[in-house]
Amino acid sequence: MPIKVLDRDTIAQIAAGEVVERPASVVKELVENALDAGATQIRVEVKGGGVSLLRVTDNGGGIPAAEVPLAFERHATSKISGTADLENIASLGFRGEALPSIAAVAGVEVLTRSDNDAAGTFIQMEGGAVTRQASQARARGTTVTVRNLFRRVPARLKFLKSTPTENGHIANCVSQYALACPEVAFELAVEGKTTLRTSGRGRLIDAVIDVYGVATAGKMLAVKPPEGEFAAGPDAAGVTVTGMVGAPELGRSGRGHLSFFVNRRWVNSRLLTYAVEEAYRGLIMVGRHPVAVLNIALPPADVDVNIHPAKSEVKFRAESEVFRAVQRAVRQALVAQMPVPQVGETAAAYQAAPPRARASWMLPQPDRADISVPEAPPTLATSLPVLRVVGQVMNAYIVAEGPDGLYLIDQHAAHERIRYDKLRQQRAESRPQIQGLLEPGTLEVTPQQTQILGDCRESLAAYGFALEPFGERTYLVRAVPALLAGEDWAGVLREMLAALAGEARGDREERILASLACHGAVRSGQALSDAEMRALVRDLEQTANPHTCPHGRPTVIHLSAGQLEREFGRS
Ligand code: ADP
Ligand code: MG
Repeated sequence: MPIKVLDRDTIAQIAAGEVVERPASVVKELVENALDAGATQIRVEVKGGGVSLLRVTDNGGGIPAAEVPLAFERHATSKISGTADLENIASLGFRGEALPSIAAVAGVEVLTRSDNDAAGTFIQMEGGAVTRQASQARARGTTVTVRNLFRRVPARLKFLKSTPTENGHIANCVSQYALACPEVAFELAVEGKTTLRTSGRGRLIDAVIDVYGVATAGKMLAVKPPEGEFAAGPDAAGVTVTGMVGAPELGRSGRGHLSFFVNRRWVNSRLLTYAVEEAYRGLIMVGRHPVAVLNIALPPADVDVNIHPAKSEVKFRAESEVFRAVQRAVRQALVAQMPVPQVGETAAAYQAAPPRARASWMLPQPDRADISVPEAPPTLATSLPVLRVVGQVMNAYIVAEGPDGLYLIDQHAAHERIRYDKLRQQRAESRPQIQGLLEPGTLEVTPQQTQILGDCRESLAAYGFALEPFGERTYLVRAVPALLAGEDWAGVLREMLAALAGEARGDREERILASLACHGAVRSGQALSDAEMRALVRDLEQTANPHTCPHGRPTVIHLSAGQLEREFGRS
C-alpha cells in the first residue's frame, strides 16, 4: 500500500483509543473537567456499565456560549496557552483532547452556561460532528451526557468486561476523586441507584467515611507535616505530604486501597507505593498491604504530568526526595499515633471478627446516621510509659503497672520487637554485632538452598553470618549474629532457608530479619526471673515501636484505671 494520510475520522478514532480505554476513562476526563471548572458539586450517572449512558453534571464555571463548538476541536483548551505553560501545569487537563476523543467514539450532548451568558447552550454531536445546537435554560455549570460508547468501535466494545466490572472501575474513579477533593460534594448513581454520596464538607475524614465506611475510617491515622516544619512551609525539597493512613491491623490482601494524589491529580505510582510499604515495614504482616490516602503537594515545575496518555502517571524531578518525604511522613504518623490497645477491644481489633466494643480512639458505632468524628483520631502516647513489673502469669505474660492502670505484655511478642528493632538498627548502621565461632561449624544444604544462600549471602553477612562455600553443598560458618550466640544457629539457618524458598526476592531481606528476631526470643511458656522481666520491659520502653510485634500483633494491652473503676462499679 502506498503511504497516505489517514482521513479525519480514522485519525480521531486512533487518538481516542489512547484517551478512552473504557467507560471509567470517560468518567475520569469529565470529572477532571468539572474540577478544573471549580465545581463544588459533581454528580455522575451511569447506565449499562457506562456504555449506554454516562452523565456528569457540575456547578462549575461553564463554557461560554461562543466557545462551546471549540471545546470539541482537537487540541483546543482554555487551560494552557503555550509550551512555557507545559512546565507549570496546575490544572488536571491541559491537552484539549478529552472532549473530541469522547465525541469520536460516542454520541455526546453538552448543556452548559457560564456566568456571562444569559441562557445556556445545548450542543449535540454524533460521529464527531455537530448535529444540533440551541439555546436552553440552565443554572451555571455543565452537564455532559455520553451515549452508546464505542458503538462505532466494535473492537473496543468486545474488550470491555462485564457491566458490574465496568461499574466497579467507574465507582473507583469517582471514589478516588472524592478522596482527593473532600471540599467537593460527589454523587454517583449506578443504574438509577445512588451508591456514593460525599458531603463536600472539606474534611478528609468525612470523605474516608463515605468511601470506606466508618469502621475503616475509625482506624485511620492523620499524616501531617511536623509542626515546626509546617509553620515554616514544606521541607527542603518543597514536598508536603498530608492525608491519612490505616493502622497496621487494617492490612488488606491487595494494593487497591492505596490512593495517591499529586497536586490533586489521582496517579498510580510504583515509587509512592514502595515508599508507603517501606514505612509500614515491620509493623504490618508480611503479604498485607496498607490503606492510605496521601496528598503529595509540590511545585508544579517539579513534576512532569505529561508522560502518560491518560495522565495517570507522573514523573518527579527529585524522585528520591519525594520517596523520602512520603516514607518519613507515613512512618512518623504510624509511630506517633499507634495506641496501646485497650482491654476488651484487643481481640476484636486484631481478629477478623467484627469489633464488639471499640477502643477509645475509634469511632463510636458504625451508625452512619449520627456520626460525630474528631478532626483526626486523638493522638495517644507515642511510646510506653515507664512501667513497674508486678509479676508473670501463665509463664507467658508480664503484668506491669503504669501511670494509668494495668499493662499486660506478651513476653514473646515484646522480645521479638526488641530484637527486630536492634537488628534493623545494626543493619542500617552497617554495624552487625557478631559472635565469632571458636571452631567453624558446617552447614549442609540442598541444591535449591545453595542458590538461595548465594542470592542472600550479602544480606546474611550484613546481619553477622560469615559463610564460606566449602565444597559443593556445604558451607563453613565462621561467625553468627551475636543475638544467636548460644542458640541453635544451624537450626535457625535451616528454617530460614526453608522459609526463604517460598519468598519473592524483594521480601527476602524482611524474612531474614523476622526469622532472626523470632528465633532466640523468649518463648511463651518460659518462666522469667524478676530481673529478666525488668530488663525486657526496659528494653521495650526504649524501642521506637513498642506496641506491636514485627507481624503487627500487639505486644501490650492496657486496662486503664478508669476501666478498672468502672468494672468494679466504683464510678
Ligand atoms: P482540557 O481539559 O485538556 O482542556 P477537554 O477536551 O477536556 O480538554 O476540554 C476542552 C475545554 O472545554 C476545556 O479546556 C474547558 O475550557 C472546556 N470544558 C470542558 N468541560 C468543562 C466543564 N465541565 N466546565 C467548564 N468547561 C469545560
Ligand atoms: Mg479535560
